[in-house]
Amino acid sequence: MLIEGLDAYICDKCVNQANVLLAQELGNKKGKAFDESFKLLKPAEIKEHLDQYVIGQYDAKKVLSVAVYNHYKRLSQKVDKDEVEIEKSNIMLVGETGTGKTLLAKTIAKILHVPFCIVDATVLTEAGYVGEDVESILTRLLQAADYDVASAERGIVYIDEVDKVARKSDNPSITRDVSGEGVQQALLKILEGTIVNVPPQGGRKHPDQKMIAVTTNNILFICGGAFDGIERKIANRLRTTAVGYKVKKDDVDLDLKNLYKYITPQDLKSFGLIPELIGRVPVLTHLDPLDREALRNILIAPKNSLVKQYMKLFNYENVTLKFDEDVLDFIVDKAMEYKLGARGLRSICESIMLDAMYETPSVNDVKELEITLEYAREKFEKSDFKKLKAA
Ligand code: ADP
Repeated sequence: MLIEGLDAYICDKCVNQANVLLAQELGNKKGKAFDESFKLLKPAEIKEHLDQYVIGQYDAKKVLSVAVYNHYKRLSQKVDKDEVEIEKSNIMLVGETGTGKTLLAKTIAKILHVPFCIVDATVLTEAGYVGEDVESILTRLLQAADYDVASAERGIVYIDEVDKVARKSDNPSITRDVSGEGVQQALLKILEGTIVNVPPQGGRKHPDQKMIAVTTNNILFICGGAFDGIERKIANRLRTTAVGYKVKKDDVDLDLKNLYKYITPQDLKSFGLIPELIGRVPVLTHLDPLDREALRNILIAPKNSLVKQYMKLFNYENVTLKFDEDVLDFIVDKAMEYKLGARGLRSICESIMLDAMYETPSVNDVKELEITLEYAREKFEKSDFKKLKAA
């Protein structure tokens, strides 16, 4: 086919060839831009950044910082045939709900210079069933990268609630486990590193869309899950080893409040993850449950802590907001009492602050507002939380 210009023609083959050359040239430029514009943060610096937003969770922060740092190192690695090639090491974060897994992932995303997306494993099903195919994870990443395939191929994906795809029963032959083991099998292939054909719009609603081939070799996967009930499996394993005649002295000092820290790949397997998947997520780390002190710190210490957020909100109205110390203790007490973890702090604060936020903007002469324990208690008693307890 000939395409007509002013006084010349160009054939389809030349157009294609020129297209390939252009793509290569632009790709090279992008690669260079990645190398040059980016100052590689050291693991300690990445952790420092995480410290500003996430309280505690020392182990998880350290593991994540190192993993992200190594990820960048791999990306800048010039592949030489006889050189040692560094393999990626996907990460598994295990910890109770509301201890900061998603927060860690989100905070990491802020300092990253690669595309990043968060996906939820609960919506995934085996191909052919109602739900989303595993490939939709890569669709998200492509969207995050503005459909720049080369940059998506260097991205980081956080897969939340990965415990929900655990095998439903120990006997695999009864029925097909399409949202459990089926998804794990499908995940294997993209975690490992292959070329996956990704529907750019996602889903199966656009059967005529052109697939985009994405290589997953360099994509770092971080998986997170609460693994409810895994403590029992850890405890069982620890007990069986502790009862034997090999009891060591330090076995006696098990931290029973935080069994998560003894987690091993073996426990993930007894929870229902298939060994092949566990093998592809070699870095396993845990998040600690949050105690009173941690909750109190979460209220005040992070860069965008709840207390700071309320202060800022009132600042917009030219009102200085103050919380009495015992109010903070009260909020933490209630969060502990209702077993809501860090997630509950926000709703408790909200129930205390609602009336003040409602009234203050209409009143002109308020310059300072102090939240006292008495006030907090009164507002809290009136709120919906009481009903929660009754229920
Ligand atoms: P999950 O572990 O279930 O993914 P999230 O990361 O979504 O929990 O945490 C819920 C909320 O609780 C966060 O948005 C954050 O405000 C607060 N939070 C939880 N853990 C921490 C922490 N370690 N430091 C600071 N805030 C936290």
